[in-house]
Amino acid sequence: MKGQMKKKKHTHITEINAGTSVNCDICNRDYTDSDEKGGFIFSTYAYCPVCAMESLNRIRDYGEEKFITDWCPKDKTFREFVIGYRGGDGIIKIISEHKQ
Ligand SMILES: [Zn+2]
Repeated sequence: MKGQMKKKKHTHITEINAGTSVNCDICNRDYTDSDEKGGFIFSTYAYCPVCAMESLNRIRDYGEEKFITDWCPKDKTFREFVIGYRGGDGIIKIISEHKQ
């Protein structure tokens, strides 16, 4: 099959941060410029890494872990996690294809 490979398409995805602010719904700390990781979504509230740690034992004591609907993935910051949870607001993806 040599010589019959399809021509490659090069896809470039450029992400632009449109400056969406991210605040903890509990302590209201601004995480817009933070690279801290952790946190979770409890009901519809975004718990920052600090509030998540402080609240987790209480949540477990009350048996309310089922209300934690999403955890921040280990490879994402709290900010990225919350923006993703809110539906990707603030990140503009520019996809361009270059055919060779
Ligand atoms: Zn907080």
